[in-house]
Amino acid sequence: APYLAAADRYESTGYRRVGTSGLILPPISLGLWWNFGDNRPFDTQREILRHAFDHGITHFDLANNYGPPYGSAEENFGRMMRTDFKAYRNELIISSKAGWDMWPGPYGNLGSRKYILASADESLARMGLDYVDIFYSHRPDLDTPIEETIGALDTLVRKGKALYVGISSYSPERTAQAAAVAKELGTPLVIHQPSYSMLNRWVEDGLLNTLSEHGMGSIAFTPLAQGLLTNKYLGDDSATPAGGRNSVQAHLTEENFAKARALAAIAESRGQSLAQLAIAWLLRDGGVSSVLIGASSTAQLDENLGALTNTSFTSEELDLINKITIP
Ligand code: NDP
Repeated sequence: APYLAAADRYESTGYRRVGTSGLILPPISLGLWWNFGDNRPFDTQREILRHAFDHGITHFDLANNYGPPYGSAEENFGRMMRTDFKAYRNELIISSKAGWDMWPGPYGNLGSRKYILASADESLARMGLDYVDIFYSHRPDLDTPIEETIGALDTLVRKGKALYVGISSYSPERTAQAAAVAKELGTPLVIHQPSYSMLNRWVEDGLLNTLSEHGMGSIAFTPLAQGLLTNKYLGDDSATPAGGRNSVQAHLTEENFAKARALAAIAESRGQSLAQLAIAWLLRDGGVSSVLIGASSTAQLDENLGALTNTSFTSEELDLINKITIP
């Protein structure tokens, strides 16, 4: 049957402004890094994306090399755009990126104008879109002039291929430089996509301040430490990542498990699961604009959406979390 989005989809999550821009995002956004390539059944992907949109998740985050294999997440998403979401294009914020390795040779990586413009065209073709809502420089490239990288983003906006532009994983210093260049060009950077979780708090050392100085917002990636900050691995030695994602292993250390267990106790005292606490904490006052989760099932999505019923924290709770998570 053709997909008809739930009529009450805008009634539950609420929405948040990104910095001082006109861009509005849901508090929880869905990333297609790992569970939307050719490694997972198309019908499962479709079920998750429909479920997300039916529950007010209007933002799907992609990149040129999401899969596996590279490009396949954008291809699968493009198929879903044609079959399911075509009528809803104006209700969606779709993002893509270039900056990590995509194709062989010197022009398929990092931050050159050559790479960014070619890659953006390929992403649009795979997704079957005329434009993306947000296009990111996926990582800093210290060997390419910042004017060139940010200039390429400005070109995408002027050509109508992106509505907004942003950067990912730039240091506070590089972010300030990029924001100044973008402003000069007349295409402000509106959003930064950094890694950020209770166990990875680097953004608090300058980046969040830099963003607010420049009117920029933020969207936190890997907020659940790829599953460590959930009940998935706690007390279950046999749990394995969906779709063969081995990068999670790096997080699964005894030290991290001890922290996760202590955090799970705080979650319980708040009537939340560990995943819900991890998400709610990122959305606390002074936190991020949106939390960019991954999910391999609609059950995970439902649990994570449950975080939104309680995103406020007492100072005692915040202190306790700091004691556990700040080395
Ligand atoms: P998360 O930290 O949210 O990890 C998601 C994984 O955690 C899921 O795939 C699932 O693992 C597990 N999980 C989620 N919810 C639950 C739950 N309720 N119970 C149990 N397990 C759960 O984020 P990701 O690392 O997946 O990154 C999210 C997005 O961020 C990416 O899709 C991408 O869009 C973006 N990103 C951006 C980067 C950048 O450089 N800009 C880098 C990395 C990510 P499983 O699949 O094994 O079931």
